[in-house]
Amino acid sequence: MFRYSDERFADLQLLRYQLPGFEQLTFRQKRYIYALSKATLYGRDITFDQFGKYNLRIRKILETVYTNPDINRHTEDFMALEVYLKRIWFSNGIYHHYGCGKFLPGFSEKYLRRVLEEIPVDNLPLREGETLDDLCQELFPVIFDPTVLPKRVNKNDGEDLVMTSACHFYQGVSQHEAETFYQQQKSSYQGDEPPSFGLNSTLVKKDGCLYEDVWRVGGRYSKAIEQIVYWLEQAKYYAENSRQVRIIELLTDYYKTGDLQCFNAYCKEWVSEQEGRIDFVNGFIEVYGDPLALKGSWEGIVEYKDLEATKRTQTISRNAQWFEDHSPINPRFRKRQVKGVTANAICAAMLGGDEYPSTAIGINLPNADWIRAEYGSKSITISNITDAYNKAARGNGFKEEFVIDGETLAMINRYGDVCDDLHTDLHECLGHGSGQLLPGTDPDALKAYGNTIEEARADLFGLYYIADDKLVELGLLPDGEAYKAQYYSYMMNGLLTQLTRIQPGHQIEEAHMRNRALIAHWCLENGNTLSLIKREGKSYLRINDYVSLRQQIAALLAEIQRIKSEGDYEAARELVERYAVKVDPVIHEEILERYKHLNLAPYKGFINPRLVPVRNEQGEMTDIQVDYTEGYAQQMLRYSTEYGTLI
Ligand code: ZN
Repeated sequence: MFRYSDERFADLQLLRYQLPGFEQLTFRQKRYIYALSKATLYGRDITFDQFGKYNLRIRKILETVYTNPDINRHTEDFMALEVYLKRIWFSNGIYHHYGCGKFLPGFSEKYLRRVLEEIPVDNLPLREGETLDDLCQELFPVIFDPTVLPKRVNKNDGEDLVMTSACHFYQGVSQHEAETFYQQQKSSYQGDEPPSFGLNSTLVKKDGCLYEDVWRVGGRYSKAIEQIVYWLEQAKYYAENSRQVRIIELLTDYYKTGDLQCFNAYCKEWVSEQEGRIDFVNGFIEVYGDPLALKGSWEGIVEYKDLEATKRTQTISRNAQWFEDHSPINPRFRKRQVKGVTANAICAAMLGGDEYPSTAIGINLPNADWIRAEYGSKSITISNITDAYNKAARGNGFKEEFVIDGETLAMINRYGDVCDDLHTDLHECLGHGSGQLLPGTDPDALKAYGNTIEEARADLFGLYYIADDKLVELGLLPDGEAYKAQYYSYMMNGLLTQLTRIQPGHQIEEAHMRNRALIAHWCLENGNTLSLIKREGKSYLRINDYVSLRQQIAALLAEIQRIKSEGDYEAARELVERYAVKVDPVIHEEILERYKHLNLAPYKGFINPRLVPVRNEQGEMTDIQVDYTEGYAQQMLRYSTEYGTLI
């Protein structure tokens, strides 16, 4: 039976997602999902460690306190500790999952020290020869001092981004040293299938020398990776076709050797597998967690096709070439032939690592530009996650507060869901895969601005086409007015409501948020299509001219594509720094105040379902059932016990 979750703390809310159609899968398919899910959950500790050197130890001591049966659970300090621990579980560490700033506990050092002293020394996660004093001395400044390692990923222009970021991808290395190190790797590479240099290692400086500590069996994170490999090899027996078997073999080879060419081989094979109902991502994938955008954060997801929703994305994909040919960019930057754009609506069956508990609603992989150009990319939108978001947002008062008038609100209520899905599809299925770099352009030329520019490109592509008659013609939108709902919601979000996710005094850091701010502020400041008006002290967005707004979107798309295609770092910097980063403190305060009255959580994450084997009297597995009853803390503690490998 499905049970909704009402777990809520800090700025977070935990939802559940349902696995529609899971029962109808064959037993073999369920076993495939089951084994892949295990491989997904075993990566959790890697993500924790990547997101901060002290994360695992801090989690461990807090879990030890939290599960101490003798502790008084009714004090304010304990409740603050509970919230802090729940936030750490949510963020895979002590930094906000979205803003990347360190969050501070609501209890004192004295309290933590006292409750640690109450625990028998043998139960404490002490290293050999280490005392409680040593432990406190090491960890307390990291936990309590706001000036110690304050940010997971620092992107402030002009600072040493590596030295000032707390993510655990570099040890004793400066930004300049890291950049030089990888620049050398890149320039000494001769072939035409370049590996993603730096993707799967910690760059360490020891005794004046730089070397990569590679994440593989026998290397760093070995204990976790061995378990991932074990479960991938189990999964192989239940694969749906021989290509899936090969994918798993290439991936386990890569995990065993750490060889990035194996990863390339795996990516090529993975992107070509289209037949199976079940698919997965498992590995060091997205580079948002690294200020230099080289190192892959570990993530996992297991998924199965949502056959109904996939019809929609297939319609888009079938017409990919038409969209590419009509894109309002300089023809030099268009792809002659859009290859292998595939898109599936899928249901998530298990989330792990950087995708858990907070997860994306769409994924487009692989990331390497040359693989995308030659082999295409696979795009998914996650329909059961979107569905859970939509259900949670219904009737919560948010739109009523921020949308300018009843007419606009009615329009959004009528078209909002279908437009949102469609924009995500366009972004993922076409946007990221569109356009091309000019020959000789370094794909990393935009450096720290690359992610924001890339997301803006995909979003603009979606915004431009959602207003195109073609979508009505293809039966994807009911009429030529629907797109206005998306334009309004998008611009309102970029100018106003996404500020609810930013702390007072902070700037915009996250790439997707930067991209939305960039687009909305650029349109506001470069024309008369948008106005911010005040009514009874409240700011609202007014769209004066939807048709001209689309022309602005086309112009910005053309410029963003030029920047990407030419690798124009200066122009990227200029755009991002001017439109995407800064926050107007007056509007920010107003939005936060209005938002506070709604009493909503700005961020959502998901409790995983539990896949429970059904066994017969001989102990053989005969079926797998989905259980939706596990609580958040219960799940997190179980994961720490069952899938804890690195401490
Ligand atoms: Zn994207």
